[in-house]
Amino acid sequence: MGPTHVPFAFACGLGYGVAVGMPAVQAFAVGVLATATSAGRFSPDVDQRPGWRRTDRAVPDEALGAGGPMQHRGVTHWWFWPALAWWSLGQVPTGVVGWIPQALVIGWASHLLGDFLFGKDRGIPLGPWFWHVGLGLDTDGALERWRVRPVVLPTAVAVLGLAAVGQLGAVFEMVRRAAA
Ligand SMILES: [Zn+2]
Repeated sequence: MGPTHVPFAFACGLGYGVAVGMPAVQAFAVGVLATATSAGRFSPDVDQRPGWRRTDRAVPDEALGAGGPMQHRGVTHWWFWPALAWWSLGQVPTGVVGWIPQALVIGWASHLLGDFLFGKDRGIPLGPWFWHVGLGLDTDGALERWRVRPVVLPTAVAVLGLAAVGQLGAVFEMVRRAAA
C-alpha cells in the first residue's frame, strides 16, 4: 500500500472538499494537505521509523499483550484517534482555517482505510492495538499495482477534479451575474 497511500489521501481530501461544496482551489488544497499525514513520519506509519522501532525494542510494551501497542499497525493505526480528532474539531470554533486540521485528519484516516483494505492477515486494530480487522487484500499485489494505482485512483481524482472545477465555474457565474 506504501506508494498508494499518497494518491489515495489526495482523492479522499479532494472528495471531501467536493462533497461539502468547497471552492475548487480549497478542495484541491485539502487533497494536497491530506497527503502530508498519509505516509511517512507524520502518518500512522511513524511506527515503522527507525526511532520508533528503537524505542519499541527498549520499551517492554509487549507485556501488555497482543504484541504491544508499539508494534507496526498497533496503536498508531487505531481508528479511534482520527475519530476523536474529527469530533474534537467539531467542538471548538476553528473558523475559516478549520479545513486545515480537517485535511490532516482526513489524510491520517485515509491511511487507516488503505491499511484496512490492503495488508494480508493484518488490517487495522479494532481495539487500541489488538483485534485486527481488514479485507487483507494483497499489498502491492496485482489489484493494487495494476488496477487501483494506475486506473481507479486517477479516475477518481479526475472525476472529483472536474466536479470541483464545476463548482468553480458556478462561483464565476455568480460573480459575473453580481458584476453585471
Ligand atoms: Zn500503515
